[in-house]
Amino acid sequence: DLQPIRRALLSVSDKTGLIDLGRALEARGIEILSTGGSARALRDAGIAVRDVAEVTGFPEMMDGRVKTLHPMVHGGLLALRDDDDHKAAMEQHGIGAIDLLVVNLYPFEETVAKGADYDTCIENIDIGGPAMIRAAAKNHAYVNVIVDVEDYHALEAELDAHDGQTSLAFRKRQAQIAYARTAAYDVAVSTWMAGAIDEATPRRRAFSGTLAQTLRYGENPHQAAAFYRDGSGRPGVATARQLQGKELSYNNINDTDAAFELASEFAPADGPACAIIKHANPCGVATGATLAEAYARAFDCDRTSAFGGIVALNRPLDAETAQAITEIFTEVVIAPGADDAARKVFAPKKNLRLLVTDGMADARASGRRWTQVSGGFLVQDRDGGYVEAADLKVVTKKAPTPEQMADLLFAWRVAKYVKSNAIVYAKDGQTVGVGAGQMSRLDSALIAATKAQRMADALGLGESPAIGSAVASDAFFPFPDGLLEAAQAGAACVIQPGGSMRDDEVIAAADEAGLAMVFTGMRHFRH
Ligand code: 5GP
Repeated sequence: DLQPIRRALLSVSDKTGLIDLGRALEARGIEILSTGGSARALRDAGIAVRDVAEVTGFPEMMDGRVKTLHPMVHGGLLALRDDDDHKAAMEQHGIGAIDLLVVNLYPFEETVAKGADYDTCIENIDIGGPAMIRAAAKNHAYVNVIVDVEDYHALEAELDAHDGQTSLAFRKRQAQIAYARTAAYDVAVSTWMAGAIDEATPRRRAFSGTLAQTLRYGENPHQAAAFYRDGSGRPGVATARQLQGKELSYNNINDTDAAFELASEFAPADGPACAIIKHANPCGVATGATLAEAYARAFDCDRTSAFGGIVALNRPLDAETAQAITEIFTEVVIAPGADDAARKVFAPKKNLRLLVTDGMADARASGRRWTQVSGGFLVQDRDGGYVEAADLKVVTKKAPTPEQMADLLFAWRVAKYVKSNAIVYAKDGQTVGVGAGQMSRLDSALIAATKAQRMADALGLGESPAIGSAVASDAFFPFPDGLLEAAQAGAACVIQPGGSMRDDEVIAAADEAGLAMVFTGMRHFRH
C-alpha cells in the first residue's frame, strides 16, 4: 500500500506554507512542477521548479483560465501505474507520473464575502484546480492530494513515518477531504448564483459548509458532533468571536443561536433588550431603559430556569450588566460587543463564555433552514415573518390601548422563538409567563399562568403579573378553552393568527370575557 513520491505539482492561490513545503519536498529529491505565481514564489526562495507550461508545451493563457487543463497533467494524475495499457499510453505520449498534487483553489468564497462585483466573482471560479483535485483524488490508489494548508504538516509527518512514502489510508483520507472541498466550492458558487439571478427564476439548492470545530460530543455524550460554517458570514454564533470561557458545546451553540436570533428581533435603536434561553426556549425576555435593567427584568421572569442559561443582548455588554450576569451561573453571553470594563468583570469567571458579534442578525433576512429526516432532508425558508401594528386586525368589540398594542407585539415577537404550542404572557415589555412545547395549547396556557404565579411568589408581588397582561399564541386557538384559561389568568388582550374553524366561537368568548383581541394572519410554529 505504500507509494513513493517522485514528482509533485504545486499550484496554490494561498501561498502560506508553500516555501517550507517546497523545501521539504526538494530535500527528499522530489521533482517540483508548478504554475505561474506558485512557481515564481518557489523560485524566489531558491527552490528548483519546472513550469507546467514547459511540461504541457502550452503557455498559460486566457488570463490563467487555461493553465493545467492538458493531458500531460491529467494523464500524469489519472494513469494507473500498474496497468499495461496506461503505461503504454504514458510512454507513447511522454507523460510523466505526478504522485503528489498540492492545490488550493481561487478564493471564491472570500471574493463573494468581500462584496465583489459579478465579473470578479466569475473570474474567481477556479476550473483547472478542481479538475486536478478530482483527478488526483480518484486515483488515490497511487496519488496524494492535499487541498488545505493545514494538512502540509500531516503530509510531511506521513513521509517521515514511511521513509518518503505514503500509505493508502493516508491517501484515502486526503482524497475524501479533497472531494469535500470541491463539493463545498461548487455549492458556494451555486448559492452565490442563486442570489445573483432574478427572484422569479426557479433555483435548485445544494448544501455544504466548512468545518468550524469538531465538538466534544453532540446533544448527548454518546453522539459525535461537529460545527460547520455556511460561508454567508452573517452575524451569529457561527461567526462570533469568543473572548473567554470554555469551548462551546453542541447544546451551547444551539441555544446561543436561538438567544441571539430572538434578541435580534429588537432593533438596538428601539432600546436595550435581553433574551435568556434554556434548552432552546426563552425563559425570560425583556426590554429596559438600560441594558442592565433589560437583563434584570428578563431574569425576573423565571429566576429558577435562568440558572445555567444563555444570555443574548442587543447592545454591547457594559460593566453594570456584566456584574448582574455574574451573580448567577450563566453558560454563555452573546452581544454585539463588550467594553473593557465589562470584560474585566467577566475575566475571573473562567468558565463563562463571552461571544461578540459584528452587529445583530437581520430578523427578516431570507435564508434556508433544513432538518434531516430518515433518508432525506426537509428544507424551508427561515421564518423571517414579521408583523407590525398596521398588519393587525382587531376582531373584538374592545380594541387594545396603545400600551396593550406594544405588549401584544412584544409577546408575539417572543412567541416566534418558543417551541409550539407557545403561549406567552407579557406586560410592559417583559415576559411574565412562558408556556412552551406542550402537545395541547390549553396545557401551554396553564403552564404559562403557573409560571406567572411563581414569578409573583419569587418576587413577593401582591398579585400575578399576568393580570392585565397581553397574551400571544403562536397558532390559532382551535377552541375557546385556551383563550378562557388566559382570561382567567388575568390577560387583558390577545394576539393570535386567527383562521380557526371556530374563530366565531373564540371571538365571542373573548368579547364575553371583556378581552381585546387582534389577528396577525401569520403563524409562527417552531418545532
Ligand atoms: P498560480 O498562483 O500558481 O499562478 O495559480 C494557482 C491557482 O491556479 C490555484 O488556485 C489553482 O487551483 C489554479 N489553477 C491551476 N490550473 C488552472 C487552470 O487550468 N485553470 C484555472 N482557472 N485555474 C487553475
